[in-house]
Amino acid sequence: MVKVKTKLVSWDEIVSWSYGLALKIKESGYKPDIVIAVARGGYVPARLICDFLGVENLVSIQSQHWTEAAKKAERAIIKFQYRIDLSGMKALLVDDIVDTGESLMLARDFILREWKPKELRIAALQWISPVAKFKPDYYYMEVKEWTWFQYPWTRLEDTIQFMRRMLLEEGKTKKEWSYKDITGKFMEWYGIDVGELYFKSALEYLVKEGLLRKVCEDKYVLAK
Ligand code: AMP
Repeated sequence: MVKVKTKLVSWDEIVSWSYGLALKIKESGYKPDIVIAVARGGYVPARLICDFLGVENLVSIQSQHWTEAAKKAERAIIKFQYRIDLSGMKALLVDDIVDTGESLMLARDFILREWKPKELRIAALQWISPVAKFKPDYYYMEVKEWTWFQYPWTRLEDTIQFMRRMLLEEGKTKKEWSYKDITGKFMEWYGIDVGELYFKSALEYLVKEGLLRKVCEDKYVLAK
């Protein structure tokens, strides 16, 4: 049975969702002079939006909230609080998803206060409407049931965290694992197959970290 509702998002989906989002912005008549990507999740969508809308100016702001896949830190913070002058410019703040919305709200308030654009609108690929504290001006997809979207740019990070969490729990009763055992249990827990490149890289990471010990070619033992 799946323990964390997860959806594996492909690069192709990202391109088509970003295109759909850009169309909505275009249709609204808003022509941003500058795009601001929320680091790190907004980087790829922001760059694609620039491409689809023909915007040359792209900067970013790092507003961080979630430290671990599907587990949140206490509050959001703005890292690297540099100042730029956006007076007279229409800006578009872009992120991947509005979950709680806290990191975007923090970025929005900081930009309005410190960078002072003429206008600032917010766009996100996805908006989790039942939990979000605000609704972005533009979104491509409304999500009605909370899900962890496994975006391609966090695939290794998420796989490591998901695998660690699964092994720590399942490891209470099972100490020895083969590659097939681990990937099979991972797919049972999360319902997604991230592929060999990511499974193997995550395993290597967890061996280095000391959570797992590789005792022979296809045998891993939980060290903790
Ligand atoms: P939040 O401040 O809660 O709206 O989320 C901050 C950032 O964490 C988002 O921009 C994403 O990069 C990441 N994140 C939060 N929730 C999810 C989710 N359900 N699926 C994938 N990434 C998420």
